[in-house]
Amino acid sequence: MKQKSLLYTGKAKSVYRTDTKGQLIVEFRDDITAFDGGKKDTLRNKGSYNAEVSAFIFEYLARNGVKTHFVKMLDPHRMVVRELEMIKLEVIVRNLAAGSIVRNYPFKEGIKLDPPVIVIDYKDDSRHDPMLNDDLIVALKLTTAKELAEIKTAALKINALLVKMLAAQGITLVDFKIEFGRAGMAIYLGDEISMDSMRLWDKVTKESLDKDVYRFNKGDVMATYNRVAQRITKKTKSPAAKSSPAKKAATKPVNVKAAPEKIAARPAPKKAATKPAKGKGVPASTRAPATVKTPAKSAAKKTAPKKPVAKKAAKKR
Ligand code: 5GP
Repeated sequence: MKQKSLLYTGKAKSVYRTDTKGQLIVEFRDDITAFDGGKKDTLRNKGSYNAEVSAFIFEYLARNGVKTHFVKMLDPHRMVVRELEMIKLEVIVRNLAAGSIVRNYPFKEGIKLDPPVIVIDYKDDSRHDPMLNDDLIVALKLTTAKELAEIKTAALKINALLVKMLAAQGITLVDFKIEFGRAGMAIYLGDEISMDSMRLWDKVTKESLDKDVYRFNKGDVMATYNRVAQRITKKTKSPAAKSSPAKKAATKPVNVKAAPEKIAARPAPKKAATKPAKGKGVPASTRAPATVKTPAKSAAKKTAPKKPVAKKAAKKR
């Protein structure tokens, strides 16, 4: 397959046309950003960790009946995907209260949300990704009511599968963001599912294992991404899982038919040497001292915060 011209470039990924009809290449770059680009860095190998975890998860979901855009990996940074007409929605599923819903609503951080809460935002940086409701989504013609129902059912199914898979590695899936697109009449899961788009806590230590480490300066980001990528793809046993086996999933999502999930390890990667993690037991708190009163994500999110946990950074990510 030949990579052709650049189609789209985002904050951490670039999408290229290819010489194969209906297929694109997604390049996972080493860039990392938070607070709407207010904090930015380039961290060597970061892209490959996210690509590896995304590929592992897409394959796992596909084995369990979820339609995803994943086709194959070309190399550790580049993924071949089915071309989709992307739907401008960010679908967030929350199992525990953390992040923006703790800042925006009177939830105590870490409380279980049972059944899981789905929040859907309009993917539009210029408007700071405001939260939508079903009527707005249909009125804006982002989806039909039928498509929206399908997306929510798929999001809950994906959540149930991920909760189980991650629990087996001693990881709590706090929340995550996914995006969908259309190919013909069908809806597929697109984009990525990685440490950038999930909020993950170690079940035992409650340590953050995701981009919150970067957002809130909780430790060595790359050591964390490396370790969590290995745990998720089952190249190392989780220390938490060894000492305290995860007996059950963190949540019991509703509306999801129980199906035995099929988990398989991917082949070992050819990757840079592992750096030892600096420190441990980093507190999981992600609460920012902000009081944002509206469900719409703060219009202030564009402002680069001096300190990452700042009022202006109320919205993201
Ligand atoms: P929150 O609303 O608490 O900031 O984010 C909820 C979850 O969705 C977190 O796991 C966060 O990483 C993910 N998320 C929300 N918005 C985005 C986004 O624009 N990009 C990415 N990669 N993840 C997001």
